[in-house]
Amino acid sequence: MLKNGEEVLSDLKRLNKEQLIARAKKFAKKYNVGNGEKFKLKNFSTTPKMVLGPEDKPLVKEALEQGIDALAALQDILYAQDRWSLLVIFQAMDAAGKDGAVKHVMSGINPQGCQVTSFKVPSAEDLDHDFLWRCQKHLPERGRIGIFNRSYYEEVLVVRVHEAILQNQKLPKKLITKKIWKERFEDIRNFEQYLQRNGTVVIKIFLHVSKEEQKQRFIDRIDDPEKNWKFSTGDIKERGYWNEYQEAYEDMIKNTSTKNSPWYIIPADNKAYARIGVAAAIISALDRMDLAYPEVSPEKVAELQEIKKALLEEKA
Ligand code: AMP
Ligand code: MG
Repeated sequence: MLKNGEEVLSDLKRLNKEQLIARAKKFAKKYNVGNGEKFKLKNFSTTPKMVLGPEDKPLVKEALEQGIDALAALQDILYAQDRWSLLVIFQAMDAAGKDGAVKHVMSGINPQGCQVTSFKVPSAEDLDHDFLWRCQKHLPERGRIGIFNRSYYEEVLVVRVHEAILQNQKLPKKLITKKIWKERFEDIRNFEQYLQRNGTVVIKIFLHVSKEEQKQRFIDRIDDPEKNWKFSTGDIKERGYWNEYQEAYEDMIKNTSTKNSPWYIIPADNKAYARIGVAAAIISALDRMDLAYPEVSPEKVAELQEIKKALLEEKA
């Protein structure tokens, strides 16, 4: 239970945009891996640091709404400035809440400035190309936020856990060696650095859910007819590889989290809290850019005033 919940809530309502951004940055920092060299998954929890009870619902709701407002304000400038773009990658175990996080966090922002892409099992056409190819086609344009629901990171997750998938990738035999994962990490790091140098900032979000919580969510999906569609029998098969996946995630984050393109390990056993974490991570990434509305020249301002005058004098 959150102590002084009411106090925090009224405090939250008093914050202006700058204070909200500062708060989001402080919050996101806790989950930002930065340089991944020493990364250990066991140092990150799947549950929030504070215990949230049902009575904290209004607080959590308010915090998310405030976060979304701040995010929308930053997105408006990103779009107007039309220089930077942001790519937000979501990776997680099944039922960790990727879809819900995308839906809630992006709900308040201008759809025109946001593109969401989900990556499923690669098509035959995808497999006729290098592994980054299908993702490159969906990179966000300048001024936009791109969301990847799964991504090229599957290439060092599901493909690593099931080596048969690798064998079916149509790679020349000679190129499939023990070094392939290290090589893919290196290629991904270089790719993200290349994007950064061209104005596309990449952040990566791992929704960190526990095995116990996944079990509960699978049961909920089976019990609730409206959720049945979300459950696939393949999900149970993948659950059987839980430890292999955790190891693959750890190695991936260790090798691909960098200062410019960090991984955020967001505790995901509490969905509402996870969504606040996601909003905070996106806000801090946008805040690191030098965002500003385009400057309007004095000539242009004068011209606009002339036009306004003419409009006001217009006869009906
Ligand atoms: P979902 O996101 O639950 O609809 O499932 C998409 C499925 O596609 C997951 O089981 C992923 O592991 C799988 N998938 C995504 N990318 C790849 C990839 N590059 N290679 C193999 N399987 C993939
Ligand atoms: Mg699924």
